[in-house]
Amino acid sequence: MNDSTSILFGMPEIAVADVERVADDQGRPGRLVHIERPEDWAACPDCGVVSTRVRQRRTTRPRDLPYGEEPIGVRWHKRQFACTETLCARKAFTESVAEIPPRARVTGRLCRAAARQVASGRSVAAVGREYRLGWPLVHRHFTAFADAVLLEPEPPEVLGIDETRRGRPTWIKNEVTGKWARTERFETNFVDLSGTGGLLGQAAGRTGQAVIDWLNERGTQWKSQVRIVAIDPAACYRTAIGQALPHAVIVVDHFHLVALANKALTAVRQRITREERGRRGRATDPEWVNRRRLLRSRERLSDKSFTRMWNGLIDHEPTGQILTAWIAKEELRVLLACAREQAPRSVISHRLFRFSAWCADSGIAELITLAQTIDAWWPETLAFITTGITNARTEGTNRLIKDAARVAFGFRNLINQRRRVRLACTHQTINPAA
Ligand SMILES: [Zn+2]
Repeated sequence: MNDSTSILFGMPEIAVADVERVADDQGRPGRLVHIERPEDWAACPDCGVVSTRVRQRRTTRPRDLPYGEEPIGVRWHKRQFACTETLCARKAFTESVAEIPPRARVTGRLCRAAARQVASGRSVAAVGREYRLGWPLVHRHFTAFADAVLLEPEPPEVLGIDETRRGRPTWIKNEVTGKWARTERFETNFVDLSGTGGLLGQAAGRTGQAVIDWLNERGTQWKSQVRIVAIDPAACYRTAIGQALPHAVIVVDHFHLVALANKALTAVRQRITREERGRRGRATDPEWVNRRRLLRSRERLSDKSFTRMWNGLIDHEPTGQILTAWIAKEELRVLLACAREQAPRSVISHRLFRFSAWCADSGIAELITLAQTIDAWWPETLAFITTGITNARTEGTNRLIKDAARVAFGFRNLINQRRRVRLACTHQTINPAA
C-alpha cells in the first residue's frame, strides 16, 4: 500500500487498484475508485484460521467522503474465502476492513464526518442531505460521538444557575372549561462560571425541586466542591441552593437587579402618564420621548442628551416622580458599582443607606417595593459586591443554548435536544475535529 494513489485515498488496510474517469447519466464527469485489500489471505472471524481459498468475488459500492469537486464513487472488490478449518462450523466468510464493516454501506470516515458536522451546530437533516445519508444514520453516529465527548461534568468552584425558555409558547385547551391557556416550557441551566466547563447540564422546569434533584444527582463529593452559586433573583432558586448546597455563598446577578430598578422606573413613568393625561404615552409627551434615555445609565448618556432628558422632565412633569425614580435607579447602580471599585465596607453601607432612604422618603409605591426587594436580597447582593461574580457568562451561554435548540427544533425528544445543546455549549473546550 505504498503506491501514491493508495496513500492519497488514505483508508487503512485498503489499496487502490485503479481510478477511472466516468460520466453520470447526464454526462457530468466523475471518478470511480476501485479498492481492495492488498493481502491474498484473510482470517476467519469465527476460528481465526487464515485462508487463501477464494470462493467468490463481489463488488459493493460503499459511500465515502467527497473528495475534490467532481463526485467520486467507490467500488470495493471484496472476496469471499472458504474456511479451511475442518472443526469450524463456518464454511465461508467475506473479508472486511475496520472502515467498512460487514454489511456497511457507508464508510466509517463518512459517518464520523457527518457526526462532527452535526456537533458543530448543523441540523441532522442538512448534514444528511449533503452526504446523502438518512436521518437515523446521521443521528445515531452523532449520538455516539456526543456521548463519548460529554462525560460527567467536573464540579465547578463557581456555579451559575439560570433559566431559558424551551421552544415557543404553546396554547393548550382545557377539556373541562374549554378555555385556552398559554403554557411555556422552561429549562434550568447549570453553568461553570469559574473554569472552562461551559454548560454542565440542564433540568426541565424552573422550580427549586429541579435544581435540588440535579444537584443531588451529582453526589455529595461533587456538591461539596461548589463554593459560590450565582443566580437570578428568584426565590425558588435561593431556597433550593440553601437546601442542596448549604455551605455555598449565593451571589445575585447585578444585571437583574438593575433590570428590577428599570422596571420600577418604567412602571412609575406609565402610571404618571395615565394619571396626568388619562391615556397612554404618545410621541408628543416628553416622558415618552425620553423613555429610553431614562433606562440608559448616566455615564452612557452624553451631557447634551442628559440635559435634554432632565430639563424635559423638570419642565413638563410636575409631580417629579419620574425623576425621583430615575435617581433611585442611579443610586442602586452607584451602590452596585462598589464591586468594580472594590469599595471599603463603610462606603458600601453609606451607599446602601442613601439608596434605601431615597426610596423610602419618596413615598412612591414602586420605589418602596424596589428597596424592599433589595433588602430581601441584601446578603446575596453584598456577595456580588464583594466577589464581583456575575451570571453574564451564563447569559452568553443562553444565546448558544437558543441557537443550538433552534437548529435542533426537530427534536421532540428532550434527551436528544439536551445532548445537542450541551455539546454546542461545551464546544469551546472540545475540538470535534480532533
Ligand atoms: Zn473458521
